[in-house]
This record gives sequence, structure tokens and C-alpha cells, in this order.
Amino acid sequence: MGRGHRAPLLTVIIAIDGPAGAGKSTVARQVAASLGYTYLDTGAMYRSVAWKAISASVDLAVEQALEDIARQLNIRFTALTSDGKQQVFADDEEVTDAIRTPEVSELTSRISAFPAVRRVVVEQQRRMGQMAGKGVVLEGRDIGTVVFPNAHLKIFLTASPEERARRRFDELQSRGLAADFAQTLAEQIARDSRDTYRPDSPLVAADDAVQLSTDGLSIPQVVTHILGLHKQCTAAQHD
Ligand code: C5P
Repeated sequence: MGRGHRAPLLTVIIAIDGPAGAGKSTVARQVAASLGYTYLDTGAMYRSVAWKAISASVDLAVEQALEDIARQLNIRFTALTSDGKQQVFADDEEVTDAIRTPEVSELTSRISAFPAVRRVVVEQQRRMGQMAGKGVVLEGRDIGTVVFPNAHLKIFLTASPEERARRRFDELQSRGLAADFAQTLAEQIARDSRDTYRPDSPLVAADDAVQLSTDGLSIPQVVTHILGLHKQCTAAQHD
């Protein structure tokens, strides 16, 4: 599970982990916006490395080449807008939409299994998290277990595979990308399986994470619940 980072944290850290399509992104953005915290989309960082690997035509099986890309790539996010939007830049190229294609999703779950790639990206995430000012919401797969095991609040969001695939399918369609539901579900199952069974930093809930199923819940209900947990945990720290 990798070495944790256990120094006392001055910045309030909220970790939101879970599988693809559980609603992490929308929920994390709204929680960050409500609290005036920074939002860090850690999946976008792995996606940017995968995107760069494709555009630079590197051999996708060579861990060293991917590690070099991860180390050299300058990934930058713009601040969240009031409607929850954020742009992603990789070496000054805007990649916000380019990193969301099914091809990049598929490759990302492969390259993120390489420990050397993870080491570099996790280091960047810790740096960005600690520089975030009063608070930061990080969403990913291993935030509560590896990146910030001493996060103040850890949430593990889930939903049934069908519900998650339906959300992903709707999202692809709304972006005008041709999508087939059965294929979306199959790709998601393959991606979940790779994330869950990889030896380094598998997708797993931290022992002290609050597990929340979003099946049948609206986004505002989930956000309100998390804001309540945040209030409790920050109040407890001031006691
Ligand atoms: O969250 P998102 O779907 O954008 O993540 C894309 C992929 O990046 C995941 O399927 C996973 O393989 C990888 N990832 C990861 N660790 C994270 C965030 C994402 O391995 N903290």
C-alpha cells in the first residue's frame, strides 16, 4: 500500500475515493466549492500522463518511459468556476476534453498500475495538496489509503455497476461521443477490475473511511451529508 504521509496537516484534507461513475467528481467539486477549498482531480493527472504517452508515441509497456513522462509533464489546473468547471493543461496544451475519451480512460487504468508512475504522481499530489491553503478536496482511488492516510475526512463513494455505467454512458452521449451501453459497462468492469486487483495502491476503502452508496441518492443529498461530516470533524478538532 506504499508509505503513507503522516506529518501533521495544516491544510484540511478531504479524501473522496471510489470507482468510476460513483459520482465522485460532481460531489467533490460541489463540496470544494461550498467550503471554498481547492479541488484536486487526481484521475486527471494519470489521464494527462496517458494522453501524453499516446501523443508522444512512447512504448506503453515500458515503465521507465512512462515514469519519465510523468516526471517531465507539467500538469496544471485552473481554479473551479462557480458552476464547477475546471480546465486541465498538460505542458500548456489544454487537454480538458482530450483526456476523457474512452481510449485515454482505458490506457490510464493500465499505466496507473505502474508503481514508478504512481510514485511520481503521488508525490505531485502531496505537494499540490499541502500548498492548497485552508483546505483541499482530493478525489481518486488511493487518497485515503496512500496519498493522505491522515486526511481529516475520508469518504468512499460507491454505486451499483449498472448505475455507474448508465451515468458514464449519459455523460459520453451528452458530450457527443458515440457510446454503446453494453460496451460502456464492459469497459467499466474491466477498468474496475484492474484498479481493484493491481498490487500497488488498489482501489479499496480505507479502514476509517465513511462508505456511502449513491444509488438512489441525489447529488445534493450526498453533498449535504459530506458537508455535515466535515462540520463534525472540524468541530471535533477544535474541542
Ligand atoms: O477518476 P478517473 O476515472 O478520472 O481515473 C482514471 C483512472 O486513473 C482510474 O481508472 C485509475 O486507473 C486511475 N487513478 C488511479 N489513482 C487515482 C486516480 C485515478 O489509479 N488516485
